[in-house]
Amino acid sequence: MHISKLQTRLDERKAKQLYRTRRIAESAQHVEMLIDGRKLISFCSNDYLGLANHPQVKQAFIKAANEYGVGSGAAHLINGHSKLHHQLEEALAEFTSYPRALLFSTGYMANLGVAQALVGRGDTVLEDRLNHASLIDGGLLSGARLMRYAHNDAADLERKLASRNSGDKLVMSDAVFSMDGDIAPVKQLVASCKQHDAWLMLDDAHGFGVLGADGKGIMQHTQTASEDLPVYMATLGKAVGTAGAFVAGSEALIETLIQQARTYIYTTAQPPAIAAATLASLQIIQQQPELREQLNANIKQFRQCAQQAGVTLASSDTAIQPVIIGDVEQTVALSNKLFESGFLVTAIRPPTVPEGTARLRITLSASHTPQYIDQLCDALCAA
Ligand SMILES: *Cc1c(COP(=O)(O)O)cnc(C)c1O
Repeated sequence: MHISKLQTRLDERKAKQLYRTRRIAESAQHVEMLIDGRKLISFCSNDYLGLANHPQVKQAFIKAANEYGVGSGAAHLINGHSKLHHQLEEALAEFTSYPRALLFSTGYMANLGVAQALVGRGDTVLEDRLNHASLIDGGLLSGARLMRYAHNDAADLERKLASRNSGDKLVMSDAVFSMDGDIAPVKQLVASCKQHDAWLMLDDAHGFGVLGADGKGIMQHTQTASEDLPVYMATLGKAVGTAGAFVAGSEALIETLIQQARTYIYTTAQPPAIAAATLASLQIIQQQPELREQLNANIKQFRQCAQQAGVTLASSDTAIQPVIIGDVEQTVALSNKLFESGFLVTAIRPPTVPEGTARLRITLSASHTPQYIDQLCDALCAA
């Protein structure tokens, strides 16, 4: 009985072209990939600097696995917190100019953990309407009242902050919006939060490693001091090319998370070799600004050639360059056509993005060659 109900819902999803399937990658994460038996040029990865498959990062991983094994064995508060995890936390704190940093096993868990540790019943979480699902879920699970403000609209935030005069307030926003590529109005968010005595947390999943001259992320890009942003969060599975996430902040914030963030306490620590690989990747990010320069050149080239090809682009200067189509069926057809022409560009559909804004989420990497970018623009034009 219940099974047939599930099947009905699945069928409905299929009829609306909202059914999701997985393609199988048979090669490493790279610009050229073997997927479902076909050689494709990928334009949908978050591996913005090409570090996921970097020889030095792999070497560090292998060396650490030989020394520390694979599994971490337990949660950080039992005996899973290795010297490598600890070194990585220290390196991340230093790189982001915060007193402390704390590793989480995934970004999703970091966002749930922060919200739950900082606010609860009687408090308010205020979130940008286009925030990543993990921030929304964090707000919902915290038990606080969740209010969503219009996208990048500090005036709307201000009104909503002013409407709440009891309890603590936590404002959460993507720094770079994951499906749109635009950047939060950080200075205005900082000012509003200061004025209304609210916590501000930015999720820099798509800024860390790529924004700012040294890749330090949103704060370097917007010249914001760490004192002005009490909770900084970034993930390690995107530009950093490994896995996991961290939260950086004051001594008191990090100690609070260690005591209270359930997604920190009740989960197995990520493998120590991942931390070693992340340390190696962080070094490359610091020592090779040319990777960011190449990425920025690629973004510029793509925008120029797409515009020449008559493609309507969103207002984004980051590696995330959505082409908003609107209609779900059309978007899926376009993605399939690109696949046939040898390009992997995924169709992003509701509920990942709002109804009527289905899109191709094109992402650029420092590893794309100028030829690949030109070829993609030709294929977009022909599709
Ligand atoms: C990817 C992403 C996350 C989740 O991070 P994972 O480490 O993949 O769980 C959180 N926030 C944003 C904005 C993201 O894009």
